[in-house]
Amino acid sequence: MTHNFDLVIIGGGILGTSISFFLSHLKKSNQIAVIEQAHSVAFHTSGRNTGKVHAPYLYNPERKKMFAKAAFHGYDMWKRYSKLKDLPFKEDGVIEVSKDKKGTKVLEKYLKWGKQNGLQDTEIELLTQSDLREIEPEIKCDAALCVYRDASTDYSIFTKSLMNDSKQNDIKFLLDTKVTDIKNKGGKWKITLNHEHEIFSSFIINAAGGESIDIAHGIGIAKNLTDVHFRGEYWKAPEEYHNLTKTSVYSVPEFPDYPFLDPHWIIRVDGTCEIGPNAVPVFSPYGYKRSENLKEFIPKMLEMLGSGARKAIFDKQFQELAMNEIQSSMSKSAMIDRVKTFLPKIDAGKITQKGTAGIRSSVIDEKGKFVPDVVLIDDSMSFHILNYNSPGATGALPFSAYIINRLNEKGLFRTDNGKNQCGPWKFSEIVEKIGS
Ligand SMILES: Cc1cc2nc3c(=O)[nH]c(=O)nc-3n(C[C@H](O)[C@H](O)[C@H](O)COP(=O)(O)OP(=O)(O)OC[C@H]3O[C@@H](n4cnc5c(N)ncnc54)[C@H](O)[C@@H]3O)c2cc1C
Repeated sequence: MTHNFDLVIIGGGILGTSISFFLSHLKKSNQIAVIEQAHSVAFHTSGRNTGKVHAPYLYNPERKKMFAKAAFHGYDMWKRYSKLKDLPFKEDGVIEVSKDKKGTKVLEKYLKWGKQNGLQDTEIELLTQSDLREIEPEIKCDAALCVYRDASTDYSIFTKSLMNDSKQNDIKFLLDTKVTDIKNKGGKWKITLNHEHEIFSSFIINAAGGESIDIAHGIGIAKNLTDVHFRGEYWKAPEEYHNLTKTSVYSVPEFPDYPFLDPHWIIRVDGTCEIGPNAVPVFSPYGYKRSENLKEFIPKMLEMLGSGARKAIFDKQFQELAMNEIQSSMSKSAMIDRVKTFLPKIDAGKITQKGTAGIRSSVIDEKGKFVPDVVLIDDSMSFHILNYNSPGATGALPFSAYIINRLNEKGLFRTDNGKNQCGPWKFSEIVEKIGS
């Protein structure tokens, strides 16, 4: 196969597919492809997450500005898209609980952030324990932040629907196809697929999730950054617990600068309940199993030791937290006990089935610090999206419109973005909301 494309998007997760959705309505080219190594889109993180359409109360409006804005507008967009396509979207809210006074101070801060990020007074409120008991008698806490503008969905269904829309508008999806090498050849990218075929492209968008940093490094970009992968594991609760609460329950994270959130009590869009995720350090973006982690252990360790990640992994607090997570992976009750602190009725003995684990890849800078926001890198022939973490699925649609607008401003696709209708949305209106 030798083929010339105007643009190749690497990664058929929710981000790459959302970008393809907008381009399929805006482009002047019919030579655009999404390349995905798995046999379906959203096979990795986008189809293995908690499925929440998050309200932006957890995100500092200064430090996580882009994630917060995208999450705020993403909620309305997914709601509208789900109506149009008849896809699952349950407006079921979420409760964030504090276990002590220190945690309640954090909830007060979240209330403020939520409002700064656009939530109305009717969409978020702080309740005392006794107020909460009236609506959720099983929850034990010091105080609770009730967020009514939060929903549950299944992001793999959304991603598949966006792929079908994109395909109808001539975007090509090459599934079961891995990008194994990229070289600049005379002003075009020569891209090797599955170690054998070659295609050419004028421009690349790197939306490769946990591999995005490797792809950037492969073409000499973002060499000062590296990443660490964390496996988020879940346990499924038995049917007798499905009505324990009306709403999903999160607890205030003790160490918000690290990617270790405490496991939540999750009500999925289909009404089943799960506990998770933890965040166990692993050695590959696909490190679901021991064999993959063993295979990647030495190369990943060497990469980390030669980069800023060395400082992070020798940091005492990081080590303690990581050990805690590893313990919660090895011992079911160690994980479930963390949820028992606010839902004491749960008995670990009754929980026997594991859920589907998902992996997040957090970027670390040269000083050994976790980078809080998404990292966007422009190059004359490529665009790279790194550190696209939670609540990335929530914000994928507006964030994709933002990226395309940014590339348009460089004159890359010559799209007529002011007038175009993209499914149920006018492109210019989304860009106006998310900012340029
Ligand atoms: C445990 C967990 C829970 C989460 N919960 C939520 C939540 O409730 N709500 C929310 O909004 N967000 C949540 N997130 C975050 C959200 O899932 C991610 O931000 C989002 O899915 C990232 O999408 P993506 O398209 O960038 O990455 P991915 O879904 O990882 O997609 C990248 C794709 O690129 C492909 N790829 C990589 N390299 C290559 C290559 N060389 N060749 C071809 N293909 C390649 C991969 O196969 C993959 O399919 C959660 C994340 C985790 C880990």
